[in-house]
Formats: sequence, structure tokens, C-alpha cells
Amino acid sequence: MKNAKYIMDELDKMFPSPKCELEFETPFELLIAVILSAQCTDKRVNMVTKELFKKYNTPQDFVNIPLEELEQLIHSCGFYHNKAVNIKNMAEDVLNKFGGVVPKTREELCTLSGVGRKTANVMISEAFEGDAIAVDTHVLRIANRLGVIKSNDVFKVEQALMKNFPKDKWSKLHFQMVLFGRYKCKALKPECKDCPFLSFCTEEKKNLK
Ligand code: SF4
Repeated sequence: MKNAKYIMDELDKMFPSPKCELEFETPFELLIAVILSAQCTDKRVNMVTKELFKKYNTPQDFVNIPLEELEQLIHSCGFYHNKAVNIKNMAEDVLNKFGGVVPKTREELCTLSGVGRKTANVMISEAFEGDAIAVDTHVLRIANRLGVIKSNDVFKVEQALMKNFPKDKWSKLHFQMVLFGRYKCKALKPECKDCPFLSFCTEEKKNLK
């Protein structure tokens, strides 16, 4: 892809040190935060986990906590019943299948309840400093707008990004695309006027006012 280097250079200028905005101390805490972040802002998740992790932060804690109490503690993140069930099942899996230690490979991570490929990729890049591209709604939209691929299939988008960008840049690129999508190339009103990708962006409804 001829624009790959240009895209990396411009994203580096915009977001030189991108990182996950979720707050956590351990891989297990990050796993909980990522589950809570579905359909919820990182800011809200951080508010909830700040209190939650003061009292509960190990797999055993989350196996023991009554479901109703966990639901109440995470209520404001939305979808609290499903998230609470997923967190308890995931904690049980970490405890029973992996001796209480969050596994590091994608294959093992994906065997945990409520953990899919996207969550596993976030864990690999953020908790374990590996190379992975988690395709969330921002990454999906931007890969399409920048002409990396035309597809709504997250797996195909991930493969296209991995093919077009160097492996040691995957994790950084993921976080840069999330930030670019969150703060500039927004879904409804992207800030196109001074965008460095304007000349080749494929988005038809550009916001040039
Ligand atoms: Fe996004 Fe607009 Fe830039 Fe295209 S021109 S990448 S839609 S901000």
C-alpha cells in the first residue's frame, strides 16, 4: 500500500506516544476494564474501576463476589448484568484453567469467557507488550477511510492492516488509530479540513465546512 509510510509518519506526528486510556495495575485488572469498556467510555470505566479495584482485584475476589453486588458496582457502565456474568465466568476460567494467572497467547486468552479476538489483541499489545492490532469501531472505520481495505469484517480488516504495516508498529498503530478516531476522524463529524489524509481519504461525506 503506497500510503502506509505516510500514514505512520503523520500519526506519529499527531500521537507520538499513544497508549491505552484505561487505567490498570495488572493484566487481570486490564481484562476486567476491557470487558467493562464495551459500549462505554474509558472515562466512565476508569471511574468505576478506581473504586472497584480498591476492594476486588484478583480472580479469586471476582469468583467470590456475589453477582448482585458486582452488578451494583459496575451498574453505570451499562449492560451490567451481562458484563458481571462475563467477569465472574472469566475470573473462574483464569483461576481454574490457568492457575490464577492471565495467559499471554491469543489462543489461550480466547478460551476465557467473554474474551474475543479484539480483547485478546488489546491484552497482547497493552498488558504483554506484544504485536497485535485490535480492530474496534474506530480502527474499522479509519482503515476503510484511509483505503487500507473496504470491508466491515473485523478479521479481514485486521489481516489487511497486518499485511500493510510492519509488525513492530502494529500495537502503536492500533492506539494511534483509536485516538485519531476518537478525537479527529469521528464517525459522524470528522474534522477533515486540516486532515493530512484528505487527498486520498475514501470517505464520501467529508466534513469540510
Ligand atoms: Fe477522517 Fe476526514 Fe481525514 Fe478522511 S479526511 S481521514 S474522514 S478526518
